[in-house]
Amino acid sequence: MSKNIDWANLGFAYIQTDNRYVSNYKDGAWDEGTITTDAMVTISECAGVLQYAQTCFEGLKAYTTEDGKIVCFRPDLNAKRLADSCRRLEMPVFPEDRFVEAVVKTVQANADYVPPYGSGATLYIRPYMFGSNPVIGVKPADEYQFRIFVTPVGPYFKGGAKPMTIRVSDYDRAAPRGTGNIKAGANYAMSLQMIVDAHKEGFEENMYLDPATRTKVEETGGANFIFITKDGKFVTPKSDSILPSITRRSLMVVAEKYLGMTVEHREVRFEELKDFAECGLCGTAAVISPVGKVVNHGEEICFPSGMDEMGPVTKKLYDTLTGIQMGRIEAPEGWIKTIQ
Ligand SMILES: *Cc1c(COP(=O)(O)O)cnc(C)c1O
Repeated sequence: MSKNIDWANLGFAYIQTDNRYVSNYKDGAWDEGTITTDAMVTISECAGVLQYAQTCFEGLKAYTTEDGKIVCFRPDLNAKRLADSCRRLEMPVFPEDRFVEAVVKTVQANADYVPPYGSGATLYIRPYMFGSNPVIGVKPADEYQFRIFVTPVGPYFKGGAKPMTIRVSDYDRAAPRGTGNIKAGANYAMSLQMIVDAHKEGFEENMYLDPATRTKVEETGGANFIFITKDGKFVTPKSDSILPSITRRSLMVVAEKYLGMTVEHREVRFEELKDFAECGLCGTAAVISPVGKVVNHGEEICFPSGMDEMGPVTKKLYDTLTGIQMGRIEAPEGWIKTIQ
């Protein structure tokens, strides 16, 4: 039985659900893992995560499709990306096949919280890992916990797909260099001041430039950029210091294979921005959010698609990708994992 939740009016906030997945790593091995109802984490006051921020996470969603199935989208890519983050943070890898299995079990155990088809809401899935044993000298922890919780969410941006105004940040998103491509809380911790400051100044997000030359577009705090050229090409920045967004990688396929567009994954110079027709931010939470204007210390770059609605090409990309996720459009092989 579906929970009694006002699905249409959900925001993007945590709602505690009934079940979560936990597996512990000790003496060099992961235990078999289990579903538990206990939403509290009990760890040492000296746990590695609390002292040296040894933690990383993932984010994906489960959907109810048009024909009433519960599915999730490309969880194998989240498994692989978490493994990459773990390696960079000297944490043990949670086996990728077990990751997918754990996602399936956690969603099944909370099936009543998966929003119905057409409600506009989805079930957000948050896998994460952290160092749990006491660490006082600077070194990796020996024990870790891998967990997954789920929470039903509405649209990430209230007010829907109104184009945003963003600003160019004077600071870098991730610190230090070489950590930008992992999904780590430490990177987010370093970017919180910039996002709070951007909001105070009336901007919805920060555009981060490459730290070395500050001439190339990287990404925002939690989403990759996509651009549409005036002659209808799909352009997205290539850099080894941005997080490899699964939404962005999927949109590259949608643009090329479903919409017949030319796709360019390459360095994007800030100078080029004024020549693009449309701009959007992409990530699991919002899928695509249109950007209408970028402000660089008073210099304004306004995209021709305007400030009223999503640009026409961005809209087509959005409709096609969400159509695939919701089962209205046939998905490429392996993109949809049926949960039940
Ligand atoms: C999660 C995240 C994204 C978006 O990735 P998706 O896989 O599309 O959700 C982009 N940038 C950063 C920094 C992120 O943490």
